[in-house]
Amino acid sequence: MTSLSFDQLGLHPTILQTVTDIGYETPSPIQAQSIPPLLSGQDILGQAQTGSGKTAAFALPLLSRLEPKNKNVQVLILTPTRELAMQVSAAIQNYGRDLKTLKIATIYGGAAYDKQIRDLRNGANIVVGTPGRVMDHIKKGTLKIGELKTLVLDEADEMLRMGFIDDVEWILEHTPDNRQIALYSATMPAQIKKVTEKYLVDYAHIKIQQKTATATSIKQRVWMVRGYNKLDALSRILEVEDYQAVIIFVRTKAATEELAMQLNKRGISAEPLNGDMSQAQREKTVDRLRKGGVNGISILIGTDVVARGLDVPRISHVINYDIPFDTESYIHRIGRTGRAGSEGHAILFAAPRETRMLKSIERATRQPIDVMDLPTVEEINAKRIKVFKEEIKKALEEKDLDIYTTVIKEFQEENPCEPQELMAALAKMNHKGRPFLLNKQLDNIKSTRGVSEDKKGRMGGKAIPLRDNPNVKMVRYKVQVGYKDGLRPGTLVGAVANESGISGRMIGHIEIFTTFSTIDLPSSVDKDALDKISNAKIRGRFLNIAPFTEKPPTRHRGGGSFKKKDKKSFGHKKHNNAGAPPTRGKHFKKK
Ligand code: AMP
Repeated sequence: MTSLSFDQLGLHPTILQTVTDIGYETPSPIQAQSIPPLLSGQDILGQAQTGSGKTAAFALPLLSRLEPKNKNVQVLILTPTRELAMQVSAAIQNYGRDLKTLKIATIYGGAAYDKQIRDLRNGANIVVGTPGRVMDHIKKGTLKIGELKTLVLDEADEMLRMGFIDDVEWILEHTPDNRQIALYSATMPAQIKKVTEKYLVDYAHIKIQQKTATATSIKQRVWMVRGYNKLDALSRILEVEDYQAVIIFVRTKAATEELAMQLNKRGISAEPLNGDMSQAQREKTVDRLRKGGVNGISILIGTDVVARGLDVPRISHVINYDIPFDTESYIHRIGRTGRAGSEGHAILFAAPRETRMLKSIERATRQPIDVMDLPTVEEINAKRIKVFKEEIKKALEEKDLDIYTTVIKEFQEENPCEPQELMAALAKMNHKGRPFLLNKQLDNIKSTRGVSEDKKGRMGGKAIPLRDNPNVKMVRYKVQVGYKDGLRPGTLVGAVANESGISGRMIGHIEIFTTFSTIDLPSSVDKDALDKISNAKIRGRFLNIAPFTEKPPTRHRGGGSFKKKDKKSFGHKKHNNAGAPPTRGKHFKKK
């Protein structure tokens, strides 16, 4: 973790103010190291992944350096997917919301040209796009990069994996010689190293140290965020976990307060701990956490900065509501529990796009992190009944019931009723209008256990016809790589198209499960092509393709269903059919 603050980095005052308004407390490690060289115009190679805060790492300095009077495209950002292009563009819009002259154009394949051309003509000074479409616009003359100041390659290794490296190099060749390059890549395959050596000049190599630590006294679990509301998930987890005290980590000061308020609204008492509180207030809060009891605190919501070094033996659970920026922060965070030899629990919420960070964390802690399911309605209700009975027992044992006994006796004489009925009425009063048990019918969290077959039969074994070629008979296959391996649909399409020569256009529906995935291919694909696919490896695992015959699995780890959308051909050039257009972006739409 870094101790530098945002105002020490040299950002433009407007940008600095926006960052403060957004509520970022401190720069993430990749930000602290990227911002100064990028501000000074130096090239950088940043080894960082999604979730490390890399978007702001390049966006903040580049926005700070935007020349207000310069009407040319000053910054071009290439991303492997349309989704990432949109995310990056939205983030830049947000970070630059107080700059009057900011104009962004977001350009990607699979969408109409008109709006993109209009945005480009309208004086965009920052362009975010996928390589294929960016190249098209440069060729058409609708995107002019002759005066470009900075080129950002975001997730360069993904662009390579998806077969875009030639397009990226083509674009690099068309940029002015003196442009600055910021290349971000989570891994450094040989081809990315080659690009780095060929195009980057006197660059700063930024690699976030991934510390390792073994935390054997801490039981780690992960809940894969998928479709459900994180707040609902958290409420459920807090209901069934047997905890003494919990610290929940979020990223911003504002989030500590917002989450505390939301939990309190749901009847879960929680308090924030953040840098806006005075030292004395913070100490008081921590003291109440340490003591617990009637006036104490059991759930605290904090950021990395304020919770650093917190030593409260009562903390039985650490919940990483927002995934940390790096493994070091994760180790710091979970080290708040399992103290003084007691067993601690760490629960991490990880979204599908944060799988790579999850893998790094597993490596850093040298332990696999168990995937957890959310508690079901039955489990929650069973727990509520258990707690209710325990509370009655406790109240009976405390014995200071005389005054109540007298009043109740009096009540029964005035309003004769069955004792059980009377007790039920009292229990209901005690719940203050909140339902005692959850209603399964009204359950707004789908259980992740036993994913049911949906209307379109997506989870079943039946292949779905191609949208553009509905008459082609399709077969559903299974490959032995899944969510656990960090698989993304684009990677699978790339590997299959690359190895077999099947055009991306003929690759159908893809579904990613925990340890395997399914992919629909034309029935005409021959054994030779299937053998080639079988022998291909993704993340070190053979695809081993085989017809998919099984029933849907009982557990689905946040995989997500993706639908191929792009009509254009895909694949590495060497596998393109003669005359086929060059490599283009492949786009998936989340269900
Ligand atoms: P990224 O790695 O760029 O996808 O960013 C991951 C998440 O971290 C995004 O939701 C950002 O809004 C958030 N974020 C980025 N920088 C900071 C920061 N310095 N403090 C708190 N949150 C941040």
